[in-house]
Amino acid sequence: MINLQYTNHKQVSNALKKGLTTCQQLVEYYLTQIENTQELNIYIEVFGEEALAQAQALDLKYKEAPESVGKLFGMVISIKDVLCYKDHKLTAGSKILEGFESLFTATAIQRLLDEDAIIIGRVNCDEFAMGSGNENSTYGPTRNGLDKSKVPGGSSGGSAVAVQMDTCLVSIGSDTGGSVRQPAAFCGIVGAKPTYGRISRYGLIAYASSFDQIGTLSHSVADAALVLELMAGADEWDSTVSSKAVPSYSTQLNSTQNVKIAYFEDCLNHASIDSEIKTATQELIQKLKEDGHQVEAVPFDLLEYMIPTYYVLTMAEASSNLSRYDGVHYGQRSANIDPKASLSALEQVYRKTRTESFGTEVKRRILAGTFVLSAGYYDAYYTKAQQVRKLIFDNFKKIFESYDFILIPTTPNTAFKIGANTSDPTQTYLADIFTVSANLAGIPAISIPLATHTNRLPFGVQLMTNSFEEVKLLSFAQQLMLEYLAKT
Ligand code: GLN
Repeated sequence: MINLQYTNHKQVSNALKKGLTTCQQLVEYYLTQIENTQELNIYIEVFGEEALAQAQALDLKYKEAPESVGKLFGMVISIKDVLCYKDHKLTAGSKILEGFESLFTATAIQRLLDEDAIIIGRVNCDEFAMGSGNENSTYGPTRNGLDKSKVPGGSSGGSAVAVQMDTCLVSIGSDTGGSVRQPAAFCGIVGAKPTYGRISRYGLIAYASSFDQIGTLSHSVADAALVLELMAGADEWDSTVSSKAVPSYSTQLNSTQNVKIAYFEDCLNHASIDSEIKTATQELIQKLKEDGHQVEAVPFDLLEYMIPTYYVLTMAEASSNLSRYDGVHYGQRSANIDPKASLSALEQVYRKTRTESFGTEVKRRILAGTFVLSAGYYDAYYTKAQQVRKLIFDNFKKIFESYDFILIPTTPNTAFKIGANTSDPTQTYLADIFTVSANLAGIPAISIPLATHTNRLPFGVQLMTNSFEEVKLLSFAQQLMLEYLAKT
């Protein structure tokens, strides 16, 4: 594993208070880490000078009035390239947004800035957050710091490696079908996705709007709790965000007494699961039972419908969301418009811009999404998938009437080789089997590192709970990490 300077914000705060470090020194340290890990292709853009200036201003603020600094004083973060940061470039890993600059800051990011977080840069991701290996970025793949021939996971792959390699303390990602949890599992860190609608999506580039949720990648559950709680809550700019009060997650991470946990045999016996991941999960279940927790296998016969339902619906939503990239409103416009061509100039702008500037995976999803929404097939695919989504939702609700948590592996396998699945995208889709259910049901979920495989790559275990039960989820995840799993 990588030698970390600090594993959580509390340690940073203590060091700052004792005068052992300054914000400036922290930023300098992280910038050196970024410099030393360039071959991994983590950052699309480093905000070096700006972060240093921000750090110096914060050091001064602290010197003058220590009580005036925000809750994230000393926290250096990176942001996935799908989050708006005013006057900074934003591409969603796509050529089509080359040159685009944000006109405003995402609500979630603004809330972190307001608490004195320092943003050190914008990190690589799959184009429009579509992918599971960070291989679909126009900026090239990000590599896993533990094995450069392997993917870091996706789509928040840059975020995961940024944290893994200690180039920042926390990274802000997005999770539509696992994009925070799966890369966290592949990189040996913590990935948390709250309830759908818990955090405003204002300023998050849309992939599939009824699934998208901002999440965190960190070394500790404590940092996930702190950052999530600060980003969460009502926002007049997002009509789907919940106005429920946000409890203080970070101060309620008390260990929970005997909980009731459901797990799915179908997941552990799935044909695609790696035997070591299966065994490690079974061993964890056994230990939890021995400690007095009620852990039971619960029948779940919808597993095989997860991937088709998720991909039909997200592709449909993506095809609609991405229609805004037309060469007129945003970013790139094709330069190859022929005034003498039979197509009108406007039609050529649409067609050529989108043909030249979207990547293969994004095009594939726009085409498939348009197909499932087309008049003749709408009911057979889109309506059917919506019906299955409702069944999945109801099934989960039912389980949570009797259980606090569902526990399953985060992924069936460890990180795969870069390029291994490019000729068969279906293989990549199928590996999302354990993560998409939380997004289909809109419930919160977290991945924490479970163990290291004999191939030396880490893998994770995933906990899910009922909507808006983040305190419960984070508390138990913290307890699991501290009491059961080797590393913190
Ligand atoms: N791998 C999934 C997909 O490609 C999830 C992506 C995400 O959560 N953004 O759709």
